[in-house]
Amino acid sequence: MIRDASAFEQTLSSLRRYVKERLIPREAEVEERDEVPEDIVQEMAGLGFFGWSIPEAWGGTGMTTEELVLAAMELSQASVAFRARVGTNTGIGSEALVADGTPEQKDRYLPRMARGELTGAFALTEPEAGSDAVALKTRAVRDGDHFVLDGTKCFITNAPIAGLFTVMARTDPTDLTARGISAFLVERGMPGLSTAAPYRKMGQAGSPVSEVHLQGCRVPAANIIGGQEGMGFKTAMKVLNKQRIHLAALCTGPAIRMLDEAIAWTCQRRQFGRPVAEFQLVQALIADCQTEIQAARALILQTARQRDDGEDVTLQASICKYFASEMCGRVADRCVQMLGGTGFIQGHPIERFYRDVRLFRLYEGTSQIHQLNIARRTIAKAGFQVGGRD
Ligand SMILES: Cc1cc2nc3c(=O)[nH]c(=O)nc-3n(C[C@H](O)[C@H](O)[C@H](O)COP(=O)(O)OP(=O)(O)OC[C@H]3O[C@@H](n4cnc5c(N)ncnc54)[C@H](O)[C@@H]3O)c2cc1C
Repeated sequence: MIRDASAFEQTLSSLRRYVKERLIPREAEVEERDEVPEDIVQEMAGLGFFGWSIPEAWGGTGMTTEELVLAAMELSQASVAFRARVGTNTGIGSEALVADGTPEQKDRYLPRMARGELTGAFALTEPEAGSDAVALKTRAVRDGDHFVLDGTKCFITNAPIAGLFTVMARTDPTDLTARGISAFLVERGMPGLSTAAPYRKMGQAGSPVSEVHLQGCRVPAANIIGGQEGMGFKTAMKVLNKQRIHLAALCTGPAIRMLDEAIAWTCQRRQFGRPVAEFQLVQALIADCQTEIQAARALILQTARQRDDGEDVTLQASICKYFASEMCGRVADRCVQMLGGTGFIQGHPIERFYRDVRLFRLYEGTSQIHQLNIARRTIAKAGFQVGGRD
């Protein structure tokens, strides 16, 4: 659903211009310095990017799912680090609060997140609980009007720069299912919370990711999201459901950009006396990229509209994430191929995107986990039941 079509078209066209004129020219600097320059962070904050998915009542833009994915497809045509900088606030770092926070919790944090003054992070994964997130071991033990959290979270996006962490911890040690898990809002500065040095990664330079350590970390009981114990995993699944559609859009923007770059290259690169784009085997690569990009875009937009209409899109969201992330990997590979040796040499955006987009098939559910979800839900829809993971 788009609330005001002509106003939103204007938003998208200024965003497109901003990406082209301000972000793309700074990509090499981000890669070199491994950070998004502060002046760009301030500009993006001033333009309201951090508040895209935060409701207007708390100072955000309150984008619908359809609006959010359209904006995400534009922003993600620049280096993934730019959108990752705002991406936890427009996604997993604020969504638990938006979905299930109490009015007091929302008042306390969301306005600052919408302004980009406070960066959120979502801390679910642990060294021994990745795909099997329910196996998480971080404990939260009540002590008067506080809980004391102990555990380690790993691979947490924006942890080194975040001021607020949504931490999933087990409040009921006797219940090893999802029902034993609660979601806590943990502020940087609460005693016992620390973050490690950023990992050195294959790609996505400029997007810091690290471990989060909780050692006797005292968190007020009032900071359980929604005020209710045992609801954390349900909240996490709500977050991931929306985020999977959002992430699918964030896989589509880079694919669009890579194809644009590859077309520009193949139309000017001459071999055998003519531009390589004239060779039909190269054209097949272009056609396959374009077809898959369009298919992903259509699927994502349809799912976003269904979500805005209040439909249960759990199956569709998984399909979007699985298809778009795999599509983006195939597009990246074909685009390197179209560039020949140049695609392998540092300094060309396609070489960087090729490394950056590899992550999409791993986080927020690996492709295998989505295949399982999709198959199981499809079988169940057909009226059958098979055993295994939910
Ligand atoms: C850069 C980066 C940023 C991240 N950001 C965040 C974040 O902000 N917050 C957060 O909480 N997490 C984050 N993650 C964690 C991410 O979500 C996990 O890495 C992901 O869920 C996979 O878990 P794992 O790495 O432990 O892999 P594993 O679960 O150990 O999987 C290893 C392999 O086994 C396969 N596998 C596992 N189970 C099954 C099964 N049942 N059937 C078939 N195959 C299976 C997987 O598909 C994979 O191929 C991030 C990760 C990275 C690398």
